[in-house]
Amino acid sequence: PPPGLLYKRVLLKISGEALMGQRDYGLEPATVNRVAKEVKTVHELGVECCLVIGGGNIFRGIAGASEGMQRASADYMGMLATVMNALAMQNALEQLGVDTRVLSAIPMQTVCEPYIRRRAVRHLEKGRVVIFAAGTGNPYFTTDTAAALRASEMGCEALLKGTKVDGVYSADPKVHKDAERYQQLSHQDVLARDLKVMDATAIALARDNAIPIIVFSVHTPGMMAEVLQDRGRFTVIG
Ligand code: UDP
Repeated sequence: PPPGLLYKRVLLKISGEALMGQRDYGLEPATVNRVAKEVKTVHELGVECCLVIGGGNIFRGIAGASEGMQRASADYMGMLATVMNALAMQNALEQLGVDTRVLSAIPMQTVCEPYIRRRAVRHLEKGRVVIFAAGTGNPYFTTDTAAALRASEMGCEALLKGTKVDGVYSADPKVHKDAERYQQLSHQDVLARDLKVMDATAIALARDNAIPIIVFSVHTPGMMAEVLQDRGRFTVIG
């Protein structure tokens, strides 16, 4: 890793909802720009950055399915939603002067590149930020699992999970004032205690590929860089 940093290559997972800001739906440009600035700061430190962005701010497959759509079709709509978010993030990063490529698990040649593992690695080596869109390309999965999968494929040293809170707590800190924040947990702890960090498929994949998951707050400015410098508040799962 570059001097003073924990890792050389990381993958940042942010949910679609983290880009909603104060809105109930869709994207808030100011929030997208703020997250893009965080990524730029980390990128400028010399860290190779991958991004996976969810789609829950636009469409959630299971919600569509429960309203009578076939689950697989609803999930494809969810995956398409992540492509929209990826394009918004690419735009914000490029306006900040950061070279960015979007690679989609569902080929969409006129919109972005198809996901090809070796090509993605090459982009990272050239110093581009790579955004993985359309999740895993498969229904019945989530973008959390896509994040664990792409982090494994790219040889990322850590999966950074940006959330609304600054780590994993024993209970919801917004409800229980005495909830305790964990400094360190194992993947197995998270699975066994069913802690709501990421879905079980994602946690198991990260565990099997020995990738630590770092849970931190995306709402605290500068926190992503601080985490990578081993400062600040976060929980390490690994
Ligand atoms: N999705 C899917 N396969 C994937 C990734 C996502 O089918 O590999 C669909 C699924 O319907 C999901 C939606 O896309 O509900 C949005 O993704 P996710 O819920 O993970 O987004 P987030 O909660 O992170 O915003």
